[in-house]
Parts: sequence; C-alpha cells; structure tokens
Amino acid sequence: MCGIVAYVGNKNVWPLLVEGLKRLEYRGYDSAGLAVVTPGGLKIARTVGRVSVLEAHVEQAAAGAYDAHLGIAHTRWATHGPPTEANAHPHTGKTKSGHTIALVHNGIIENYATLKKYLTEKGHVFTSQTDTEVLAKLTAELYDGDLERAVQAALREVTGAYAIAVVCDNEPHTLVCARKGSPLIVGIAEKSYIVASDASAIVSHTTQVITLDDYQVVKLCAGPNDRLATGDAAGGPWAVEFKTTTIDNVRVTRDVQELEFDLQQIELGGYRHFMLKEIMEQPESIRNCLRGRIDLRESRVVLGGLGKYTRELVRASRFLLVGQGTAFHAARIGEYLMEDLAKIPARAEYASEFRYRNPIIEDGTVAVAVSQSGETADTLAALREAKERGALAVGAVNVVGSSIARETDAGVYLHVGPEIGVASTKAFVGQVAVLTLLALYIGKRRYLSDDVIRNYLAHLERLPEHVANVLKQSNHIRECVERHVHRENWLFLGRGYNYPVALEGALKLKEISYIHAEGMPAAEMKHGPIALIDEGMPVVFVAPQGSQYDKVMSNIEEVRARGGKVIAVATEGDTKIHKYADAVFTVPDVPEALQPLVTVIPLQLVAYHAAVLRGHDVDKPRNLAKSVTVE
Ligand code: GLU
Repeated sequence: MCGIVAYVGNKNVWPLLVEGLKRLEYRGYDSAGLAVVTPGGLKIARTVGRVSVLEAHVEQAAAGAYDAHLGIAHTRWATHGPPTEANAHPHTGKTKSGHTIALVHNGIIENYATLKKYLTEKGHVFTSQTDTEVLAKLTAELYDGDLERAVQAALREVTGAYAIAVVCDNEPHTLVCARKGSPLIVGIAEKSYIVASDASAIVSHTTQVITLDDYQVVKLCAGPNDRLATGDAAGGPWAVEFKTTTIDNVRVTRDVQELEFDLQQIELGGYRHFMLKEIMEQPESIRNCLRGRIDLRESRVVLGGLGKYTRELVRASRFLLVGQGTAFHAARIGEYLMEDLAKIPARAEYASEFRYRNPIIEDGTVAVAVSQSGETADTLAALREAKERGALAVGAVNVVGSSIARETDAGVYLHVGPEIGVASTKAFVGQVAVLTLLALYIGKRRYLSDDVIRNYLAHLERLPEHVANVLKQSNHIRECVERHVHRENWLFLGRGYNYPVALEGALKLKEISYIHAEGMPAAEMKHGPIALIDEGMPVVFVAPQGSQYDKVMSNIEEVRARGGKVIAVATEGDTKIHKYADAVFTVPDVPEALQPLVTVIPLQLVAYHAAVLRGHDVDKPRNLAKSVTVE
C-alpha cells in the first residue's frame, strides 16, 4: 500500500504535492499521479515510474500557469490492475450535476466487483482495472452538492481497507479524507492543511497533527474567509477550518498532537534498517496478505485470482513449484503443503535447473512460479517453458502487473507491500501464506473436511498476533547471537515442514552477515556434515512440537555429544528442550503445516542481529541485488 499527499491552503499546491511524493518515494511504488483544483477546473497528471517523471510532465503541462490551492497526489503500489497510466491514481467520477470528483486511495476495496456492476448499470464508464475507480465513481454517484456527505455515504457501502483523499471541482476550498485500516495523518500548518499517509511528507511543514481512527472522515477547508462555511472574521482574510466525523456522520473530536520525529528517522519508521522494519511489520503485512481471503463462517478460502481455473487446479495430476533463492525455499514448503493438504503429488525445483533439463510435463501439470518481484529471470523462463509444454501457469508474486503476473493463467498476489530490504523476509512469509491458502483452497474441494479447514483458517487468522509475540524476543535473540557471532560456520537443521525453514535460515545468515551457513534435513547431518561439528560450533535446530520432535531431539543429542552449541526454535511451553539447548526461541503452538510461518521469524532476527553485530550494512549486502533479472 503506497503513498498519499494532499493539501489545501494558501500556498501554490503543485510544488508542494511533488515534494511530498518525493518524500514518500523510499517506500517503493510503481506509478504516480496528482489532481489539483484550478480556476480553470480539475487538472490531472499521471505517469508510470518515478515521481521525477511526473514532475517533468507537470512542468511541461504549464502547471505553474495556475495558482491552485487544493490538490491530491499519490504513489501507487498496484494491487488491482498492472502499473499503467490508466490505472494510476487519481481516479475520477462524474456527478449527476456534471461535476468531477477525483480521489486517491491506499488499500483494497474488497467488494469492488459488485459495486462496479451496480455503477456500470447506472451508466458510469470505467477506464481502469483498479478497485479504486469504483470508490471515485460511487462518491460521484452519491454526490448531491456536499462532498463530505457523499464520501461518508460511499464509505458506508465499501468493505476493505482505505486511506483516501477526495476533491470535487464544485468545492474548490474543500478536501475530504478518511481512513480504515490504512494510515493517514493530517498536518495543521499555518493557513493550510497537509495530509499524508506517512509523517515524512508532513514534518517539513508542521509538527502539529491529528490522526484519524478507523471509519473517520475529516473535512478540511481553507480559503478566503467569506467563502468558508463559518465565515469567521477572526480568521482574517484567509481562513481555515476542519471538522471530523464518522462515516455515519456523527461528530467526533480529535486532539492535536505534536509529532516527535526527525525526517531521517521517519523514513525508516524509526527502525535502523529497512530489513528490520520489514521483519517487525510482518504482523501488518500478513494481515494485508490474508485480508478478504479467509471466510471462517463458510470454512473456505477466497482466491479471486484463480477464478475460472478452479476445476483444473482441483483435477491437477501434479504440481511443479519453481523459484530461486528465498522463493525456492517457499516453493519447497509449497511442495509439502500440496501433498499434505491438497493430496496432489508435488515437486519444487530451482527454476534455473528445471528450464535446461528437457523436463517432462505430464498432462494435468500445474506450474507455480514463486517470486517477490515477478521479474526473476530464471523463474520467468521456467514458467514459459512449463507453459509451452502444456502446464497451467499459476503465479505467487508480490508485484502486481510484473512479468510473471502477466504471463500466468491465474495467480495469487502476496499483497505484503513493497519490500525494500535486499534480504527477503516479509515476502517469504507472504509466499508461504499464499501457498498455504492455495493448498487449502484445493484441499477443500478434494479430501479436507470443513472442520479441518476451519481449524487451519482459525489459526491463520491469529497469525499476525502469533508473529507479533515471536518478534518480542528480538533482544533475547540478539544476546544469544552475540555469544556465537564470531564463529565462521553454522548449521541449520530441521525436519518435515521445517527442513525448508532451515534452508532459509542458513541463506539469510549467509546473505547479510557473510557467515558460512548450511541448511539441511536434520537426519542428513549424520551422513557426512556431522564431521564438521567441533567444540562451540553453533547448530540451529528448528524443533517445534510435531510428528518428528523425538527424532529431532536425538539429533540434538548427537550435536551436543560433539561439543556443538545448540540454538533451538521450540514450541512455547516445551520445558524439555531447555535442558539440551544453549538458547531457546519460542513460537506458538500451531498445526505442523503452518509452522514455517512462525518458525522462520526467529531465524530472520538471528541473521539480522548477526549482520549488525559484525558491522555490515544490512540494507546493502555486498554483491546482492533485490531482484535478479538476469540468468
Ligand atoms: N488498490 C489500489 C490500486 O490497485 C490502491 C493501491 C495502493 O495502495 O497503492 O490501485
């Protein structure tokens, strides 16, 4: 979910909006746009790519020719429809009285399809594939001369998450904003208001802010005194006023607060590194990933992107999951999930190996491409290869409209928001969550009973809370890592679902701390790697309660007998393991199939703290790029 900046006040709005968008650039986005209300009507500019492109475009369009005082702007991280100019915000709607409403939105309107049908019947013509345009047109449909009322009425009809800023050319001094589930802050500056989704776009103007709660709407007015509702002469010739309500039009009071951040800090949200920020924000990113996809009442998973391919998925003879790096580890977990929950034979493969080995694709194969960026060259090529040989192509990617997303027949987006840290964390969890949903979606239509599905879904719903509890151990994890960080070789071991988690733990450590680490099935250690274990070697066991717990305990004994230092990830309440391990990080008790979603979290923190303790720049690891778009 990306950025919003909006302004109403006595200054010229164009440069202000562009500056605000630039301050939000660090969050990552794919396109940008703005709308201003000028004496000559509403002016809109939208471009794909950087804010500088939008800036050049606006300058060229002789923006400065107008002195505008009201405007809204947006950087988009697409969720519905690819990053194109037509899909970039602001989106507009025509009112019955012939006026234009423009709106920017962060979040997802979940019931957009139903509303779109209704609005189309009413004669509205849609020009984008976004969910957002529905909200713009709905507001226009409900507009009867009062923008605040129309926004309230429209929001009463939508489900989902939103932060919005809305203007209408009929009300040149009024900005209406609202939020539910996505952040929005209102800055109170001299003779003006500046609204943004992130404080970094506000602090250069003011530190006085009001924050909105969910389902609250704010109407902000600034203009010549005689034009405003109150006409309060005390405001001088240029007056400002604001009013907060709920979407049901109940007045609420909001206190003005003092923002206590400097810019530098805010861009990282107070975190030292983007990687840490992304690790710590996982409860929120998981919530975004699962939003609208779990229907507990009906015991079902809702995955709109699979639509007409459901039958083929349910009747698939085999699943082939391809990826590279972290995404490959997610694919490996997907392999276990497909066989365990969907009861369909599955295999995970490195995309790079699959594509060059003249693979046999039998009838009924579903190829799943797993990638954060959706641009990973090897994965894209493997997907094309599988498709060419007759497989149904499914994507599990984060970036909407990316190459993989475009080339698949069906797909499920991760919706975890932009990932800036080079070492993937929240995208991995998003990939595993999506593959879990996919396996349950198919499993429900094959062998899983409603009770079993409901149990999984109930646990998934609590996942953000579970992950938040694991994250609280960050200091404890750092203290443990401090004792071992000087060691150059580490082992990561796990069994079953936690074997790929061990692979991922080792990869994370390698990527950012440059410590040599190996991940493998715990049992495999005895077949050779045990020779490496000497006095003090750190061995991380992913050992939650489950069908193979006793076996893992035996492996722990073997390591201890040779002087290795055991670091264990174990289930809360497991008292036994404390006797055997040098350090224990706990995770909540969840069904085995869901364990990777929690057991990987401490391993992300192990890698992060190791890198910081060794003095490395976590966000710029040597030799690595965020997405590998070459073979
Ligand atoms: N769902 C909206 C879209 O796809 C908003 C995305 C965002 O938050 O940037 O356009």
